[in-house]
Amino acid sequence: MTARKTAIVTGSTSGIGLGMAEALCKTGVSVMLNGFGDAAEIEATRSRLAGENAVEVGFNNADMTKPGEIHGLYEAAEAMFGRVDIIINNAGIQHVAPVEEFPPEKWDAIIAINLSSAFHLTRHAIPGMKARKWGRVINLASAHALVASPFKSAYVSAKHGIAGFTKTIALEVAQHGITVNAICPGYVLTPLVAKQIPDQAKTRGISEEEAVKVLLNAQPTGRFVTVEEIGALAVFLCSDSAASITGGILPIDGGWTAQ
Ligand code: NAD
Repeated sequence: MTARKTAIVTGSTSGIGLGMAEALCKTGVSVMLNGFGDAAEIEATRSRLAGENAVEVGFNNADMTKPGEIHGLYEAAEAMFGRVDIIINNAGIQHVAPVEEFPPEKWDAIIAINLSSAFHLTRHAIPGMKARKWGRVINLASAHALVASPFKSAYVSAKHGIAGFTKTIALEVAQHGITVNAICPGYVLTPLVAKQIPDQAKTRGISEEEAVKVLLNAQPTGRFVTVEEIGALAVFLCSDSAASITGGILPIDGGWTAQ
């Protein structure tokens, strides 16, 4: 089904975004990668994904804090593939600090990357999806779209916001063959989480080992969610079998938000 479809995955030079991009490539989807990182490593990933899966894979380094560059990312994908069928708004950053110490510039960056960038990319993608009567929008939210944790005011606000954005756009496009869903992972051991471990340890005055336990205490399964599990869910949501799943705020969190 997804064969010969095309996708943009923001923040796909690392972690969950890269995992979802790879999972889509494996089903025959051509993908425009995006994100920051070492240019040689990104090019190695791009050519590996293209070569192993016989699909087209591009890369665009648009900064998700900049609406003009987000437009450029959309136009680059459309120019390369002729159309964009799937967008995955995944780019995200985190900062952990009590609200009275939270740097205002970190607040602004988290809201821009984790929330506003989804609006900026989605608004460019919807007209073409409507014209072709088929589209998939997946927003990478978080268990923090459903519940809060202390010291993550900007992140939890952005993720609750993305849940509202997901439901609203799902309603707007429901009769156009387009689904819009939010995937809400629990903790996945990516660079984003690895960086939080020393921060959590410092903020809570505990060791890094204890900080990992604090994170995993949230998850009844007692283990990290894997990138591959999230990739598989994204592939399913892009399939025609998932045509009636829309406006979903879908936990994949080892039972965290069931508590
Ligand atoms: P990661 O740090 O491994 O990857 C983040 C990606 O975003 C990278 O490709 C990075 O280059 C890109 N990025 C960062 N700032 C950018 C910017 N300004 N413009 C363009 N790209 C930018 O993180 P991850 O854990 O893979 O997180 C991916 C998404 O999943 C995020 O939205 C995150 O909030 C969400 N999430 C992660 C977890 C987790 O436990 N790791 C849990 C729930 C939700």
